[in-house]
Amino acid sequence: MYYPLMDITDRISEPPKWWFQGIPRYCDYHPSEAAYAPTNLLVKTRCEYCNSEFDVAFGTSAFLQKNIVEPVLGYPLDIKTGLIIEEAYDDPPFHLGKNGFNCIGNSVTADWVAILQVWEGESALNWIRRFDLDGLSPDF
Ligand SMILES: [Zn+2]
Repeated sequence: MYYPLMDITDRISEPPKWWFQGIPRYCDYHPSEAAYAPTNLLVKTRCEYCNSEFDVAFGTSAFLQKNIVEPVLGYPLDIKTGLIIEEAYDDPPFHLGKNGFNCIGNSVTADWVAILQVWEGESALNWIRRFDLDGLSPDF
């Protein structure tokens, strides 16, 4: 579960454009603004409890292939190892539920709704956008 950061988000009138490890980001997403990793993803996730959606960035050393996912949970698999990408298991950013209190879903792994962007690269200057991997998560 991530820390509540409403002391930051409540002072800014616009909602965060995306999140990285529970941290609100207000710039447009680009992998150079996220993780130092060979593969960077921007994923639309959904809180399992209140259904709030968040665009969340991940970085991983895994490599994806379209529609290669674990059949029950729908998380993508690393094509090199055949295992679920470990970074796919992530809690949603801290948020309040519909009742205005700490959402129970803060401590539960968020569902993937869609892959919004995938970038692969070896350095911050050499990113390749993988448009072929964009799309709805196969279990939705
Ligand atoms: Zn929630």
